[in-house]
Amino acid sequence: MKITFATGNAHKLEELREITELVTGDANFIEFSTPPKPFDPDENGTTFEANSLIKAREANKLTGMMTLADDSGLCVEALDGRPGLHSARYADTQDEKIEKLLGEMKSKTNRRAKFVCAMTLLDENGKILTVELGECHGEIALNRAGTNGFGFDPIFIPDENNPEKITLAQMSDIEKNTISHRANALKKIIEYLKSHA
Ligand code: IMP
Repeated sequence: MKITFATGNAHKLEELREITELVTGDANFIEFSTPPKPFDPDENGTTFEANSLIKAREANKLTGMMTLADDSGLCVEALDGRPGLHSARYADTQDEKIEKLLGEMKSKTNRRAKFVCAMTLLDENGKILTVELGECHGEIALNRAGTNGFGFDPIFIPDENNPEKITLAQMSDIEKNTISHRANALKKIIEYLKSHA
C-alpha cells in the first residue's frame, strides 16, 4: 500500500515507518513517501484534527495519492493546555522552546502533561476515510535529559512502561514508538486499513 505522509519533518516520517513495522511486523505494509518540498501548509485550524485535515488536503492535491497527515502538540495542565496547538510555533528553535517551557514551569507543582496526535487519512480523491486521535500522558521534567527523538522529548517523562522515570529522549526508538501519541494514533489508522482492505 502506498501512502503519502503530509509532513516536512524527517523525524516523524522515520517514526511512522518504525511504528508500522512494530505494529504489523511488516516493514512494507505501508510504503510511505512525502509530498514535494517545501511543504508548509497554513495550519490555521482550531483543533489538532482540523490542522491534520488541512495538511492532508494539501498533500493530496499535490500528489493525487492516498494521504495521511498528523498534527500534534504538547498540552500542559498547569498552562491551561498550552503550548498545545501552537507547539510548533511556541519559540523559534527547539532549544528555545524547551528553555521557555522549563521557565514557565519553574514555580509549578502540577507538572502533568500530554502529547496529542490527530491523524487524518484521505483516499486518492481526497475523501476522508477516517480521523484518529492518540495521546501519551506523563509529566514535564525539571531539567532536560537525553538526546534521542525530537521536539520536547528531552523534557517529557511518559507514564507508560517507564519505572525509571526517564524522558522520551532517553528511551530507545522502539521504546518511544511503542507508547507515543503518534504510535497510538497510527495503530488505529492501521486497524482501519486492515479492516477495510
Ligand atoms: P506539528 O505536528 O508538525 O505541527 O508539530 C508540533 C510540535 O509539537 C513539534 O514541532 C514539536 O515541538 C512538538 N511535538 C510533536 N510531537 C512530538 C514528539 O513526538 N516529541 C516531541 N515533541 C513533539
